[in-house]
Amino acid sequence: MSGDVDSALRAAFGDARVSRNAPLAPYTTFRLGGPADWLVTTRTAAEIRDAILIAHAHAVPFCVIGGGSNLLVADEGVRGLVLRVHGGDVRRLDDSTLRADAGVTINGLVRWTVSHALVGVEAWAGTPGTVGGAVYGNAHFQGRLISDLVVDVLVISRDGVTASIPSDQMEFGYDYSRLHRTGEVVLSAAFRVTRGDPDVLRETARASLAFRKRTQPLEKASAGCIFQNPDPARDPIPPDMPASAGALVDRAGLKGRGEGAAHVSTRHANFIVHDGSATAAQVSTLIDRCRREVREQFGVELRDEIVRLGFDEGSHVHSHR
Ligand SMILES: Cc1cc2nc3c(=O)[nH]c(=O)nc-3n(C[C@H](O)[C@H](O)[C@H](O)COP(=O)(O)OP(=O)(O)OC[C@H]3O[C@@H](n4cnc5c(N)ncnc54)[C@H](O)[C@@H]3O)c2cc1C
Repeated sequence: MSGDVDSALRAAFGDARVSRNAPLAPYTTFRLGGPADWLVTTRTAAEIRDAILIAHAHAVPFCVIGGGSNLLVADEGVRGLVLRVHGGDVRRLDDSTLRADAGVTINGLVRWTVSHALVGVEAWAGTPGTVGGAVYGNAHFQGRLISDLVVDVLVISRDGVTASIPSDQMEFGYDYSRLHRTGEVVLSAAFRVTRGDPDVLRETARASLAFRKRTQPLEKASAGCIFQNPDPARDPIPPDMPASAGALVDRAGLKGRGEGAAHVSTRHANFIVHDGSATAAQVSTLIDRCRREVREQFGVELRDEIVRLGFDEGSHVHSHR
């Protein structure tokens, strides 16, 4: 079966674009983890569809990555096909809407809107990753959710059927969209915009970048926030503390704590960082230790914000059916 899928991928994409046992670390901001059995980088919605249909026809598991900025890839790598959704276009649909392909970076989208004097996504400047990844996890920044701007999402199902899903059917929540449940893949998303002054937009984008530089350890490899923020409605957050995972990790005395080459950032306690030599196992052990100490000290169970790939086929299949 693996020979068949290999030939089908090569026939569709050409030898040069199908990588066997391909290291994934270079495609993630964490810069760690093992190889994918197959890696194909897609550039268009039609290519995403072709690759999905091949995986489906050969009953080979597949998962999608965008900018790899929210991923922890297992040291053993990922079985089956990894589709790296990369690049694409942004286009104006009408006065108040634009459509961006899934592989467009959020920074690319911000640049496009600023240069076209369109208000909407400028505060998201500096958010790593792609439109597809931002929709999957409903990216958040300073209390805003990307879903506030989404009009609809064009998706493709695991067996290759495309559908346009209006925002109110995307089941957007904190760090959540229906894609977690359905395994659908984003092809593009439409965003609401209004006209504005490019100088003001540029200033907002600059302020977001400066805020990130001040508060995040951007010079080191990381995957952004490790844990979701706790929910005041269901988690017993101590009354004198904000509903912030970083604050809990910090208060538990874990800043700077290490496991092998992986460390809890001293700048932002919800980031785990390393200099390029940590393993996924070390990061995972450190995550477990942070979770345990926060649970023991505060009774709050921190939930993962990062997405794990290849750790356990069970959860992998669950989130990428
Ligand atoms: C320094 C730093 C700062 C960060 N700051 C923020 C922040 O302010 N706010 C925030 O929310 N996040 C932040 N993050 C996390 C990350 O940038 C976001 O989660 C981002 O939206 C992930 O997008 P991605 O393309 O990199 O997705 P990936 O990491 O490649 O994938 C993440 C998940 O999205 C899925 N996915 C990706 N593309 C698609 C697609 N086309 N269709 C369906 N599913 C898809 C993947 O299967 C996976 O489950 C930060 C990360 C770093 C490293």
